Amino acid sequence: MSARITILGSKEKELKEWLQSHPENHERGAIILFKRISRPVENLIDSDRFIAVDIIKMDNDWVIDSSKSHFKINMRKFPEIYFRCESENLELGFAHNHPNGFQEFSAMDDINEMNILKGLSGCNGIKSFLISLVLCDNNWIGRVRRGDTPENIISVRHIAILDDKINLHGIDLSKSSPESLKRQEAAFGLPFNQKINSLRVAVVGLGGTGSPVATLLARTGVGELILIDGDDLEASNMNRVRGYKGDDIGKKKAKSLTKFIESLNLNTKVTTICDFLDKDPIALDALSSADVIFGCTDDISGRDLINQSVYYFNQVLIDSGISGFIGDDKDGNPFLRTQKGRVSCILPEFGCCLRCQNVVNEQKLYKEQRFKENPELKELDAETLEKEHYIVGGGVQSPGIGAFTSATADNAVATLMNLVSEFRKCSSELRQDNIWIDFIHMEIHSNEPIDDPECIYCRKHTILNSSEGKYRLGIPQLGEIPTNV
Ligand SMILES: [Zn+2]
Ligand SMILES: [Zn+2]
Repeated sequence: MSARITILGSKEKELKEWLQSHPENHERGAIILFKRISRPVENLIDSDRFIAVDIIKMDNDWVIDSSKSHFKINMRKFPEIYFRCESENLELGFAHNHPNGFQEFSAMDDINEMNILKGLSGCNGIKSFLISLVLCDNNWIGRVRRGDTPENIISVRHIAILDDKINLHGIDLSKSSPESLKRQEAAFGLPFNQKINSLRVAVVGLGGTGSPVATLLARTGVGELILIDGDDLEASNMNRVRGYKGDDIGKKKAKSLTKFIESLNLNTKVTTICDFLDKDPIALDALSSADVIFGCTDDISGRDLINQSVYYFNQVLIDSGISGFIGDDKDGNPFLRTQKGRVSCILPEFGCCLRCQNVVNEQKLYKEQRFKENPELKELDAETLEKEHYIVGGGVQSPGIGAFTSATADNAVATLMNLVSEFRKCSSELRQDNIWIDFIHMEIHSNEPIDDPECIYCRKHTILNSSEGKYRLGIPQLGEIPTNV
């Protein structure tokens, strides 16, 4: 097992300011309380996510003695922290800095960790974890131990700091890039490939945008992919999908695309979920384990769940969609009036959520629900739908044209690359959280979000880092959260 650690940018800032401000430049420490995300999903590699939810600064009461190269803790202060971990179902973390520049864990760190873990497992049981972090020259390194095997060190795959970017620390840089990623290494440097490789990425929806996204992510060197889609491939999809063969028609998209990606032999581990987020709780459990989510579905209720997942589980969402309209010219021939591809980029503390971007709203959810219950409504014209069924926006589907869906998918993957390596120099009129390509006028622009100071997701941050309670995402229909193993 290897662990992944996620810390919000605001929390990291608080931590750094404390650790690096000792008046005599001594080592300093802080307690970090983590929420552990570990839900059993078949075929998913064992890799718990630890999300930092609270920081307690270790002031003078906590310290027996310190210098520029050591830090001796007063163990008597710990029992109240152990109690809080137990009562709030949190895991214990200990962070400190090395002002002398020592880039590894020291022998003193071993002693401190063993002491803390001994007390912790005595109080809370041997299945307790201790997450240990060291800050040195603005870089974090981390490791994890568990009470039942305290000598055994669980390695950390990455420490992800999420602000308006994904800053990845503690990456194993010893592996060299495979031949297939040498050009990427030339463009972005060697750590880029190793950082991308450390990510677990979920792709929700495997059609016109999702299938090119998933195949390109594998080629980009993403270490783990979770492919989520309950639909079968249809013949009418074949103009815009990637990776499917003729005899995949009528079969589950997620299964066929997994087979294709595995055949590329690129060392991407794929987990396949042949269902929808609102139907199969396992799909949601797999989603919660991802570092990054690509939203490529045209299902509004699915998107609404993804939008919540970002804030509950501190994830990065890159959501893409195509909107377009086919008109008739004066001779009655169809022509493309509008055709645009959107990429929204949302981090827990950056960007407006999908509701504020108007990708998800009550009207769209209502329309989708009515169409699900009464598929025959889709045949009606916009006017009848609005007058007789109170459905606004008609039943027309956006035209799905391969050249436009693929270009949007490529832009979505480039957005992930930019989050990791920051190569874009956008003009100030463009919003990083919302970029549209207009394929008719060949222009790029951003839409202004709804300015809702009451938004519980992206403005008030009501659910950010909060506990889901008993049920997945706090929604009883999604079932009870399985207890940690
Ligand atoms: Zn140390
Ligand atoms: Zn919002």
